[in-house]
Amino acid sequence: MVERQLRCRAIRDPRVLAAMLEIPREEFVPESGRKHAYADDPAPIGHGQTISQPYMVALMAQCLELKDTDTVLEVGAGCGYHAAVLAALAARVITIELIPELAEMAHQNLEKSGRAGNVLVVCGDGSQGCPELAPFDAISVAAAADDVPVPLLEQLKDPGRMVIPVGSSWEQELRVIRKSNGEVTWHIATFCRFVPLRSP
Ligand code: SAH
Repeated sequence: MVERQLRCRAIRDPRVLAAMLEIPREEFVPESGRKHAYADDPAPIGHGQTISQPYMVALMAQCLELKDTDTVLEVGAGCGYHAAVLAALAARVITIELIPELAEMAHQNLEKSGRAGNVLVVCGDGSQGCPELAPFDAISVAAAADDVPVPLLEQLKDPGRMVIPVGSSWEQELRVIRKSNGEVTWHIATFCRFVPLRSP
């Protein structure tokens, strides 16, 4: 997966490549999907949701330029895989999931794979961020929004970085947002298709 899907597609950050090698994706997909755990695709995790394509997880992590002292907020924990990758790159990860059963699944998967030490799974509406634990050095949003939720921008440190898919339910641009010296700028890393960021 790392050689064929990541290294040849401009994932160059050695820390990101090491994290992708380190976290066993098969431990995060449901039993029925294990044979295809390293396929170049998103995969169903139940409740109409998906585990993201490995390349997308790596690209988002690379765009965040994480340091091992960073605190990261993830919106959309799903099965916990992306949170485990972020946790290998940062000091602490808080991941929010709207669907209680998936929040529980993420927590169990992180525990089983020994990654729960620096990850907190919260069940709730991630479009509001997590004001109690803000601000964050980086924010990674794994569900598509019509626009960047204002609470997330407010909870981003200065300097700070956010990745978020913005657009319709069919296609989104993956925005890389930077806050620096009070200014917010962004560029598009790629185009993508995520499940929607929903309201409770
Ligand atoms: N991070 C996952 C992929 C997540 S899929 C991975 O490891 O690959 C997107 C997730 O976002 C789904 O589980 C969905 O339930 C969740 N989600 C959608 N809207 C949300 C919201 N408002 N707050 C928190 N989670 C949300």
